[in-house]
Amino acid sequence: MIAPLLRLWLLLALLAVVVLGAEDFYKLLGLSKNASEREIKKAYRTLSKKFHPDKNPGDETAEQKFVAIAEAYEVLSNKETRDIYDRYGHDGIAQHKQGGGRPAQHHDPFDLFSRFFGGSGHFGHHGGERHGPNMEVRVAVPLRDFYNGRKTEFSVEKQAVCSACEGTGSEDGHVDTCNVCGGRGMRVKRHQLAPGLFQQVQSMCDACGGQGKTIKHKCPVCSGSRVVRETETHELFIEKGMPRGVRITYENEADESPDWVAGDLIVHLVEADPKLGEMEHEKTDGTFFRRRGKDLFWREVLSLREAWMGDWTRNLTHLDGHIVQLSRKRGDVVQPNTVEVIENEGMPIWHQQLPDDSPDMFGNLHVEYVVVLPDQMDKSMEKEFWTTWEKFRAKKGVQLDQESGRPSEPIKMPDHDEL
Ligand SMILES: [Zn+2]
Ligand SMILES: [Zn+2]
Repeated sequence: MIAPLLRLWLLLALLAVVVLGAEDFYKLLGLSKNASEREIKKAYRTLSKKFHPDKNPGDETAEQKFVAIAEAYEVLSNKETRDIYDRYGHDGIAQHKQGGGRPAQHHDPFDLFSRFFGGSGHFGHHGGERHGPNMEVRVAVPLRDFYNGRKTEFSVEKQAVCSACEGTGSEDGHVDTCNVCGGRGMRVKRHQLAPGLFQQVQSMCDACGGQGKTIKHKCPVCSGSRVVRETETHELFIEKGMPRGVRITYENEADESPDWVAGDLIVHLVEADPKLGEMEHEKTDGTFFRRRGKDLFWREVLSLREAWMGDWTRNLTHLDGHIVQLSRKRGDVVQPNTVEVIENEGMPIWHQQLPDDSPDMFGNLHVEYVVVLPDQMDKSMEKEFWTTWEKFRAKKGVQLDQESGRPSEPIKMPDHDEL
């Protein structure tokens, strides 16, 4: 009874290994065959963090994936082995490893990880591993992107572990213990203050610069400093309705060093000053909407005739190009500085501020009307208006001064004493 079951199980286990072992390296990294070196690096960075055993405790599939990703990266990041893989696939790589050419570099997957993120290859919050400082950057995007949502990129310059020497600082990989300080990085000097009276002073070892190590052949890329300045590009997903000033964390993407696990890169998303772009979709009225939370604000100018007589229409182009129509019928008066609230034409509300299965919701658009009076008129027009007004005044015009009982003469004030 047990034997066939066991056999089946073994077979399945074997199949699993075969399937996993044969997974295409490009597929594994989510790349196409013509992926650039940069894309390969990027894929490794993203996936190795995702499947790192520290992040997936007890999950064996994740661990296998972590190992497989490291292997795929090692093969594809080397020109020679990538070439072999492209031509002969997994078999070619196996043969190459067995005898063939130069021994391919082979790293422990955790070593490889530490080449990217510093430290000892772990980044869980256990083991008291030292973390580097977090890094904060501001990224400004236009209001349009907060409204529509957008996938974009930004670049930061940061310190990275030198990949030429893998963070050793040495061209040939040899690092010696400093023979002046014995590796402590500090030296104790004795000064004679007076006969028989000594003072001990501890100072940094200048033979090794306090490192405790010396390198005969310094890495030509980083000149022995083990790190280089590098520009890294990150993807940025701006979600619809994200609040201004929202912080987006990129784990372990801050400055790297072989001495610590890289801290986090924190992006502050801020709103760029409004500016009309070159493209059609960058020329909407919405570009100049002002945002407060989930609401948008806009000032619309009306002429005296429009404000007073009505019969007008305005087509506002919103941030996604749709039209919000404002209008009044003939005879509808708009008082200066009136604010009209148009519901659901504000910002989309960020999904994180809504209950889980909520439909999309929007704030309001507040339109303030500004009325502009003409400061000069055509002479004949002025004459006609004047005549009309005089006629109207004679019939049932209102004199506000008289209505409110204001005198035409100054009021006589009581003498000072009487106050
Ligand atoms: Zn180097
Ligand atoms: Zn030293």
